[in-house]
Amino acid sequence: MAIETCEMDFSQFELSDPVRQAVDNSAYTKPTLIQEKTIPLILNGSDLIGQAETGTGKTAAFALPLLSMLQPKLRETQVLVLAPTRELAIQVAASFEKYGSAMQKLRVATIYGGQSYEGQNRALRNGAQVVVGTPGRVMDHMRRGTLKLDALKAFVLDEADEMLRMGFAEDVRWILSEAPKERQTLLFSATLPPNVREIADEHLSEPEHIVVKSKTLTAATIHQRVCMVGFRDKLDVLVRILESEPTEGVLIFAKTREMTTRLAEQLCQHGFTATSLNGDMQQKQREKTIEQLKSGRSNIVVATDVAARGLDVQRISHVINYDFPHDTEAYIHRIGRTGRAGREGNAILFIGRKDKFRLRRLEQATRQQITWMEQPSEKEVHEQRVAQFKESLCESIEAGGYECLQDLLHDFQKETCVPIERIAAALLKMSHPNLVPAKETKSRRSRRDQNKHGFGDGSISDDFNEDAFRGDDDKSRKRNGRRGEDQDMQKYRIEVGHVHGVRPGNIVGAIANEVGLAGNEIGGIQISTHFSSVDLPRGLPSDVIRRLQKVRVAGQMLRISAWDKGSQRRGTDFRRRGPKKSSHGKRPKNRSAK
Ligand code: AMP
Repeated sequence: MAIETCEMDFSQFELSDPVRQAVDNSAYTKPTLIQEKTIPLILNGSDLIGQAETGTGKTAAFALPLLSMLQPKLRETQVLVLAPTRELAIQVAASFEKYGSAMQKLRVATIYGGQSYEGQNRALRNGAQVVVGTPGRVMDHMRRGTLKLDALKAFVLDEADEMLRMGFAEDVRWILSEAPKERQTLLFSATLPPNVREIADEHLSEPEHIVVKSKTLTAATIHQRVCMVGFRDKLDVLVRILESEPTEGVLIFAKTREMTTRLAEQLCQHGFTATSLNGDMQQKQREKTIEQLKSGRSNIVVATDVAARGLDVQRISHVINYDFPHDTEAYIHRIGRTGRAGREGNAILFIGRKDKFRLRRLEQATRQQITWMEQPSEKEVHEQRVAQFKESLCESIEAGGYECLQDLLHDFQKETCVPIERIAAALLKMSHPNLVPAKETKSRRSRRDQNKHGFGDGSISDDFNEDAFRGDDDKSRKRNGRRGEDQDMQKYRIEVGHVHGVRPGNIVGAIANEVGLAGNEIGGIQISTHFSSVDLPRGLPSDVIRRLQKVRVAGQMLRISAWDKGSQRRGTDFRRRGPKKSSHGKRPKNRSAK
């Protein structure tokens, strides 16, 4: 479904010439509803609460007027945008660059955790006029003096509710209170829970309140699921899904034209009738492919986004996002190819670890739940094969025409004395070898389990359930995620405690944000005076641990280490003494703090 626009024209806003030029160069024809309402107010200098969700065009709603008012010659930070996640920060920064592409000397810096300070320091030193960042890293740069806000004109809190839900309330408050008071403050949030209102009351001055209610962008009849799949398992998992799910028409989305052809060929090699649909094909050929899908002569089409634009085939029961969509709009369009004319539809999204944070945005954009699905097991695939076989056997028995073959069977049985069941089973093995139950290999099972354990099984909405943050004091905290079982979790020590002013929400927010763990994968947190403990999924990959070592919370590097007998006793002096040495003078293996 297309984005909802209004009747106005962009030329009716007093945008600067270069910004107007960038809009003219974009595909936007009309402003969206939030843009219509907020752009004049922002240009007027008002503070603003914009209640709008992702997918409404809210980024342009603040970026276009703020860029229009920016002084490009002044090489100091004039606009600061706080975003809850690094993905959103990158996206917002890219939008500023796009809308400011015709402005000379515009510099945009993106600052977020999990990345070295060097590049970010350089971008800030070079005089970025627009800075987009996540709260923790922005705070760090301000404390280090690498981000100066003396010339700040506008402060934007993007997705404020999300930011607070992730435990950044104190950081946001600190940053707001350190910024110059003479500024314009804009707060965008999908919802306005009391903590967001409180911040607005404290830090916004007589704000205008704009609410844009957007319609559900996708049909409620589409069941959206997401499946964690490693890159090398994608084809295997796709085949299993096609074999285990009852499907009618299936539309699979791949990133490139080459990929659509290759994947269609690979599926044919696996015994499916699959065709590709891409821009390299002649119009006639494309029409034929669609016609075949409509009539049921072909059931699987592998397409690019462009080639499937507007595709209207009612019998598409499944849309499979084999490659991750490049933005939310593409996702909405893709899944809108199923669940048509009031039918039930299924949308399955393949996701790699690094795409995990983009999920929540898709869920927000569609305003519907996306639930986790497990890769189909060998047993499920087998059961579906058997069910299909039984169905076609019944049809074949009813259709008749095999009577002459019955005599052949009787003769054979008389000659060999082999029971009729054995003969039938042997025939079956010859004609349908895939009905022989295969054993699941150990490596495949462990890969499936890894995916299952790593990422929970419920709706991604639950990842940052507000309840999980209630009572977040220094008592041991039992989070309400489904991953509470102790055998799945391991205790870690982190080097931040009460003396640093840390709250459990800060720890959850930082860990979730920096390494992409879901909220419900972060278990109990116990805060002590100088250090804390946190329960995380057992067997975290070493690169995740390495990244966690360097994450800063309340200004302290976490320097995470597996909890051991000495963890509690090491107590206050740990930072000065460094980790205990083993009897060989080496550092214990699982500790990589320097
Ligand atoms: P946002 O809500 O800022 O995440 O924007 C959602 C999508 O809408 C992005 O892909 C924007 O490029 C797109 N968009 C923003 N403004 C307009 C507009 N006036 N017309 C069409 N698309 C727009």
